[in-house]
Amino acid sequence: MSYQASPARYENMLYRRLGNSGLKLPAISLGLWHNFGDATRFETSRELIHHAFDHGITHFDLANNYGPPPGSAEENFGRILREDLLAWRDELIISSKAGYTMWDGPYGDWGSKKYLVASLNQSLKRLGLDYVDIFYHHRPDPNTPLEETMSALDLIVRQGKALYIGLSNYPAELAQQAFDILKQLGTPCLIHQPKYSMFERWVEADLLDTLQQNGVGSIAFSPLAGGVLTDRYLAGIPQDSRAASSSTFLNADQITPEKLEKVRKLNDIALARGQKLSQMALAWVLRGDRVTSVLIGASKTSQIDDAVNSLNNLQLSEQEISDIEKILM
Ligand code: NDP
Repeated sequence: MSYQASPARYENMLYRRLGNSGLKLPAISLGLWHNFGDATRFETSRELIHHAFDHGITHFDLANNYGPPPGSAEENFGRILREDLLAWRDELIISSKAGYTMWDGPYGDWGSKKYLVASLNQSLKRLGLDYVDIFYHHRPDPNTPLEETMSALDLIVRQGKALYIGLSNYPAELAQQAFDILKQLGTPCLIHQPKYSMFERWVEADLLDTLQQNGVGSIAFSPLAGGVLTDRYLAGIPQDSRAASSSTFLNADQITPEKLEKVRKLNDIALARGQKLSQMALAWVLRGDRVTSVLIGASKTSQIDDAVNSLNNLQLSEQEISDIEKILM
């Protein structure tokens, strides 16, 4: 049977404005870094996308290299769009990125105009789209002038291949320089995508202030630390988890007894709030309105439910924040 979007999809989601822009994102967004490549059953990926959209998740985040193999997440998402979701294209915010290694030779990596323009053309082909909503430079390039990278992003918007542009993994000072160049070019930066969770707090030093001062929104990636900030690993390493998989980004060695001890204590606070730890971890990243959206990953629809239901209790008391702080110290 063909897919029909749930009529109730906008009933429970919260939408938050990105900086000073006209665009809102769902407080929960879905990333396609894991579980959407050719190594995952296509029907599983399809079910995750349907489930997310049916619950008001209008934003799907991709990159040229998501897979494995690189490019396959965009291809598979393109197929889901074509077969199921095209009627709802105007209700979707689809992003892609370039900045990491994508193809051999000197033009398939980093931040040259040559690479960014060619990579987005390839992404659009894989996705079967004329434009993406947001196109990011995925990481800073120390060897390409910032002016060249920013003018490539400006060009891409002027060509109509992206509506907005974003930066990912840029430290505060470089982000400020990039914002200034982009403003001069007439294509202001919409959004920054940094890593941010209870276990990864570099953005608190200066990046969040810089974003606020410039009216730039933000979306925090890996807010659950790849699954560690959940109850997933409290009783060992489940066979179907990321830490047990061939993903090199989380392995069992990283889940140390010290880390687990913190997770256990955080889990107790979450349970006392009537929440799961994954839900409290998202509420914590969204606290104070400085982060527009949390960008989660999911291998099961129940994980999407957990994230969406976290919105039922986003309030953290002073006492809870201070108790969490003591555990994280
Ligand atoms: P998370 O920190 O949200 O980790 C997601 C993983 O946690 C899931 O795949 C699942 O793993 C586990 N999980 C999720 N919900 C639950 C739950 N309720 N209970 C138990 N376990 C749960 O994010 P990711 O690291 O996946 O990153 C999210 C997105 O961020 C990416 O898809 C990508 O779009 C973006 N990203 C951007 C980067 C950049 O450089 N800009 C870099 C990395 C990510 P399991 O498989 O074990 O079930």
